Amino acid sequence: MSARMLDGQKLAARIQQDLIPEVERFTASQGRPPGLGILLVGDDPASEVYVRNKVRSGREAGMRVDMQRLPATATLDQTLAAVTAWNADETIDGILVQSPLPAAMGHDAEQRVIDTIAPAKDVDGFGVASVGMLVQNRPTLVACTPSGVIELLDREGIEIKGQHAVVIGRSDIVGKPMALLLLHRDATVTICHSRTRNLADECRRADILVAAVGRPGLVRRDFVKPGATVVDVGINRVDDPALAASLFPAGHPRLETFQKKGAILVGDVHPEVEAVAGALTPVPGGVGPLTIAMLMKNTLRAAQSRAAIHDSRLVIGD
Ligand code: NAP
Repeated sequence: MSARMLDGQKLAARIQQDLIPEVERFTASQGRPPGLGILLVGDDPASEVYVRNKVRSGREAGMRVDMQRLPATATLDQTLAAVTAWNADETIDGILVQSPLPAAMGHDAEQRVIDTIAPAKDVDGFGVASVGMLVQNRPTLVACTPSGVIELLDREGIEIKGQHAVVIGRSDIVGKPMALLLLHRDATVTICHSRTRNLADECRRADILVAAVGRPGLVRRDFVKPGATVVDVGINRVDDPALAASLFPAGHPRLETFQKKGAILVGDVHPEVEAVAGALTPVPGGVGPLTIAMLMKNTLRAAQSRAAIHDSRLVIGD
């Protein structure tokens, strides 16, 4: 048996297309497009790529995307000042500060930045207000990667209700919100992490297995119940030839790409899982593109709810 591949790229393109008329309606009614502010601090090459893709997606959907750069030597105060300025800007509906921030800013810099973003503009869904609302299953801006996974499962017709879902990883940005979203959809959820005993045994109980770890090829064939849906959130750059060779058999096209480019992106799920899973997200082309599409959806939602609040104030003020 070979797993059905869940095409995140195709779904992301459809979500993005579906946004265009909604963005046009918003722009016509408000006299301005939805606005997204993206702040990039420093010159991390992977962040450059992510930000470029986000800017392009937003603009293609008809939004205004303001991209601001600060040098790697920028201070936390300068970073917070940029966020505060966007908080006060009525034409900016969503604020995203690309992670990671330069290490020199201090270990709590990212949290301080997240805490500074106005909750109504928290399109990454990382702030305490957004997370609190998510815990209570109330409408809010939800972290883009896990909400993209739910969108993918739904559109692929994969039942969540009553299923046993296992999430490997408990980060604030993926693992925890993923587990909550699955729980709110009536899955029975197990969360695993680096201290979980018998990880493979826990995972093998899953009807839906989500790996959000950051360890290339961690999920092996014996982690997966035959026919289970496996969602690979991991994005890992592999530049070690021995590691690449342990993931792909000789002659595999990915290995040829590795030999040509000197590195490849792989997920947390070993390719051998394809033979046992019922459905599987590829890396690249699975969850990654959905994250950006959901960011655009969140930006439009933020714009719509800010406009609705604004309009109701006008009515009350009349
Ligand atoms: P993270 O903050 O480093 O969290 C990793 C989690 O994995 C932690 O909870 C950690 O457990 C757990 N873990 C580490 N080693 C483990 C092991 N050997 N066995 C079981 N659990 C283990 O990472 P993240 O930000 O959640 O990201 C996870 C992966 O997803 C990364 O590859 C990242 O690049 C990728 N990602 C992809 C997207 C996308 O758009 N597709 C978006 C975000 C992240 P402890 O809590 O015990 O340390």
